[in-house]
Amino acid sequence: MARPTIGVLALQGDVREHARALSEAGADVVSVRRPKELASVDGLVLPGGESTTILKLARVFEMLGPLRAAIGAGLPVYGACAGMILLADRVDDGGSPLDETFGGIDMQVRRNAFGRQVDSFEEDIDVDGLAGGPVHAVFIRAPWVESLGPAATALGRVSAGAAAGRIVAVRQQNLLATSFHPELTGDGRIHAYFCDLVRNA
Ligand code: GLN
Repeated sequence: MARPTIGVLALQGDVREHARALSEAGADVVSVRRPKELASVDGLVLPGGESTTILKLARVFEMLGPLRAAIGAGLPVYGACAGMILLADRVDDGGSPLDETFGGIDMQVRRNAFGRQVDSFEEDIDVDGLAGGPVHAVFIRAPWVESLGPAATALGRVSAGAAAGRIVAVRQQNLLATSFHPELTGDGRIHAYFCDLVRNA
């Protein structure tokens, strides 16, 4: 598969930025809103946005069941920020757990975890498996990973400050998630990593 076909879930969020990053990484990109479009892709990106809104729209578009089934069947999926929340098996919403997600990664994430003082911030993060030095990571009302089950692996952590040690990049087999937004920085390495994952799946 020289050029994999990768979908971007286009219900809400920064769809266009991911589409650009994926085509720069060598994928043919399609928007996915319907089960039929989902069935045509080799991999899928869940963009950043608002996880509760994306979930609501996924129900309206009758995508919740098909997305869960595709993830369960091994479709490679990369979720950024809100997309990380959607891939988590368990979500802590500051008291109330989000009752359903697409799931797939054996982890608990906390929404809006970094708190009001640091709604948005940038930091360099070392990501396992990425050559060429740390990723300049942009966090926007981002989640972090509170705990990982045995099937999932931490790829990157915050290195300094109050959140030092918090997990912000995770992989479990064909599923990849980051708290941050590589589609906003022009650093194509995370999208290239995901394209390779799709080619090898
Ligand atoms: N705070 C958002 C949520 O909970 C995620 C923010 C983002 O994707 N940039 O869904």
